[in-house]
Amino acid sequence: MNQQRRTFIIYAASASSFAATAAFAQNAAPELVKDSDANAVALGYSSDGSKTDVKKYPQYAVGQSCSGCTLYGGTAKDASAACPIFGGKHVSGKGWCSAWAKKA
Ligand code: SF4
Repeated sequence: MNQQRRTFIIYAASASSFAATAAFAQNAAPELVKDSDANAVALGYSSDGSKTDVKKYPQYAVGQSCSGCTLYGGTAKDASAACPIFGGKHVSGKGWCSAWAKKA
């Protein structure tokens, strides 16, 4: 096998491997914040905002949810989306935390 052919095969194999890795990364489910995560507990995050402890978080009001928060990275139709408060991990659209701020 000559050098050019060997080099071509190595590049082709590398490109194929890269494409497979990229496809896998696109299909991987986003990492969701768990209610039990330490930073979630610290911020009073619940993946179901209606279960918020209103004695502990009196600022919570019925109807507030991540999907209506200015920090929510998705649309109101998205079941989950990234939140910068949690380093870009996904939060539930129905969730809520004490950093909630009404989307403009
Ligand atoms: S900051 Fe907003 S979007 Fe992020 S978890 Fe709290 S309420 Fe949800």
